[in-house]
Amino acid sequence: MNTKTDDKLRGRISRVVIAGGGTAGWIAAAALSKKLGELLDITLVESEQIGTVGVGEATIPPLRTFHRLLGIDEQDFMRATQATAKLGIAFENWGRQGDRYIHSFGRIGTSAWLCDFHHFWLRGREMGFDAELGDFCLELQAAEAGKFATSPKSEINFAYHLDAGRYAKFLRCFSEGLGVRRVEGKIREVRKNAESGFIESLLLEDGQVVEGDLFIDCTGFRGLLIEQTLKTGYEDWSHWLPCDSAVPVQTEAKGPALPYTRSIARESGWQWRIPLQQRVGNGLVYCSRYLSDDEATAQLLENIDGEAITEPRVIRFKTGRRRKVWNKNCVALGLASGFLEPLESTSIHLIVTGATRLMQLFPFDGITRSLVDEYNELSQDELEKIRDFIVLHYHVTQREDSPFWHYCKNMQIPESLDHRIRLFQERAHAFQADSELFRVDSWVQVMLGQGLMPEGYHPLPRLMTKEEMRRLQQSISSTIARAVSSLPDHQDFIDHYCKSN
Ligand code: FAD
Repeated sequence: MNTKTDDKLRGRISRVVIAGGGTAGWIAAAALSKKLGELLDITLVESEQIGTVGVGEATIPPLRTFHRLLGIDEQDFMRATQATAKLGIAFENWGRQGDRYIHSFGRIGTSAWLCDFHHFWLRGREMGFDAELGDFCLELQAAEAGKFATSPKSEINFAYHLDAGRYAKFLRCFSEGLGVRRVEGKIREVRKNAESGFIESLLLEDGQVVEGDLFIDCTGFRGLLIEQTLKTGYEDWSHWLPCDSAVPVQTEAKGPALPYTRSIARESGWQWRIPLQQRVGNGLVYCSRYLSDDEATAQLLENIDGEAITEPRVIRFKTGRRRKVWNKNCVALGLASGFLEPLESTSIHLIVTGATRLMQLFPFDGITRSLVDEYNELSQDELEKIRDFIVLHYHVTQREDSPFWHYCKNMQIPESLDHRIRLFQERAHAFQADSELFRVDSWVQVMLGQGLMPEGYHPLPRLMTKEEMRRLQQSISSTIARAVSSLPDHQDFIDHYCKSN
């Protein structure tokens, strides 16, 4: 690194420019303004003419923690975004045609110090007990019964289905209230310092120039700053996750809203159904190698409930990661940083963790090589673990009924995932690595749900008699059944707690 670059790296950072105002841009603006607003001058540039990707409506529970940290009132938020509660995802036809399982957000059974509850459940099966693993999970049972708590303050672990457009507006209002300056306009040119290559300003089509010290690229798949300007490079993961297209469409809500997302495997991909208060988000994620856009659209429209209220449109993507999400004085968040398909609703979560990490490592006194490296390594590690979890759904299947499923079942998978699958298959061991998003219960629900039955399990449960096992199972499942029966219907919860005006 030359001295000039070193000087630039050491410069103080106080002017933050966020390029793009989709979910990523406004999450970054909200977090930075709330937590570091007194130290920073924050500007967000967005173009109504370009618009946002307009999808991204299923979330996972950590979003609630993020909102709490920001001091967002949950009821206000749910009303403003037409949100419903999400207790997990129902996967249909994934292991085999006709199969169904729920990956819930709940804890399963109780944990012993030496091993997790599913080892006890496996031993119970061997002893002749026929309970399902899901009988020991409150959230899963509540989801199946269409129930939800009267108040989100209860113990139930849940996330939201939300309207992405309304969410961006909600966060915009929140951020502007905290002093974020919004500039409307299309970025025509990203100007760099000729020597250091650092970004200095954005030139808009109307001639405005927006200068900054640190730039957050939230311009979506185009990655206007991180890729088109800085040529950072992209690691393609489509050999593990071959879907490269999606076609979304909305329908009107019909009947009570389900408190979970549906993910239905189709011949060359899968279909989502996300219930909001007044409408349902639907879409087909597919691999264009096996299904044309017209076929995908027709397949989706054949499989929706009721009339479409929006026009279907094709979105193209490439699964993978930006080689550096922090490059020079630019940090990429959201679709600009890479893309994992929405099977486990992880993208909005990754925006939140990316923004949080940036605040934790914020380069007030200048950008240093070690800050950048740390940020990039942590981000890469986080993404690769989620990637493995998503690949698991495709690979561990008995389906070979179409060229797409034949490919997925037989493809090479990352070594890290292969290790996890073998460990579970042999002895039912599953683990949550350091700072990994998905817990043991998630891995276990998906591996069993996809049809991966372990050959062995931990010896600890063998110390129990059949009567002890019966009592253990009965006490947990009957407590859960009682709790579920006392919960109101999810639709009642929506009507009373979070109906939008
Ligand atoms: P965008 O929404 O594309 O926003 C880009 C912004 O940049 C816009 O404001 C645009 O106007 C602005 N911009 C671009 N170029 C310029 C320019 N030249 N000048 C000025 N402004 C510009 N995530 C989940 O967590 N859950 C899900 O269920 C989920 N489902 C998904 C389904 C699909 C099919 C896809 C493709 C993604 C899904 N995601 C999901 C991901 C989620 O949609 C995104 O992570 C999220 O919307 C963030 O998008 P973004 O803000 O990065 O990009």
